[in-house]
Amino acid sequence: MEDLFEAVAKVNQILKRSRKTLVLTGAGASTESGIPDYRSKGTGLWQKFDPMEKASITALLTNPEEFYRFNLPRWSKYIQAEPNVTHRALARLEENGLIYGVITQNIDGLHQKAGSKRVWEVHGHLRTCHCLECGTSYPFTELIGQFNQGINPPNCPQCRGILRPDVVLFEDPMSQDYYSALEEMKDCETLMVVGSSLQVYPVAELPRLAPKLIIINKEPTPWDFKAIIVVHEQAGKFFEKFI
Ligand code: NAD
Repeated sequence: MEDLFEAVAKVNQILKRSRKTLVLTGAGASTESGIPDYRSKGTGLWQKFDPMEKASITALLTNPEEFYRFNLPRWSKYIQAEPNVTHRALARLEENGLIYGVITQNIDGLHQKAGSKRVWEVHGHLRTCHCLECGTSYPFTELIGQFNQGINPPNCPQCRGILRPDVVLFEDPMSQDYYSALEEMKDCETLMVVGSSLQVYPVAELPRLAPKLIIINKEPTPWDFKAIIVVHEQAGKFFEKFI
């Protein structure tokens, strides 16, 4: 654990010298925008609920009403959230050429809202959904609109098949963005992890591929031992020094 000012100065130096730096963000990057994470001690959502019962393909197919009752109200909040200082600082670092882009596990779209251009959303996003029967794609607002009118599960306006969001659920294959992120990792010199417990695989494998690793996370992670810099602090406190 580093002194915060010292860590900021060191990270600045590393970013200036690094040939290619990627940032990997997790739910912890968005908690300061009011979106709870999944695994923080005490408050994380999956500390209280079993993800297989609430956010898996099996849950969607066997009990779609409950799947949407549980997930849609909180996803609606993700869409309304605003970027925080961490998102804004990362967008600025990209603009200034100090980081190449952001690989995110988040589905909230806050990096793009803050101005980041190169973003790999390895667990999907909340911009669209599609029909499980005919595959037709719709804006995510189709799900919310139907749900708010009491239509549960929301269904396809064309064939009445069940709609699903374009997020990676438990039991889903990984997204195309994940494979693109793996390609990007091939010539990455520095990976900076921000707000991730690094417990969700296969994304938690990415630190292994990075020659240099920096970790900014409130709690210890299984990869702290490999990192050249570890900061156990709120991401916002760290990144406000970059704005
Ligand atoms: P996680 O919940 O497993 O871990 C979050 C980590 O962030 C924890 O270790 C916690 O200590 C840390 N943290 C919390 N607030 C922080 C802060 N302000 N500053 C620094 N660290 C902070 O999250 P994960 O590793 O991203 O994996 C969970 C999965 O949940 C991901 O796949 C993601 O798709 C999904 N998820 C996304 C959102 C979102 O889109 N915002 C929200 C919840 C979960």
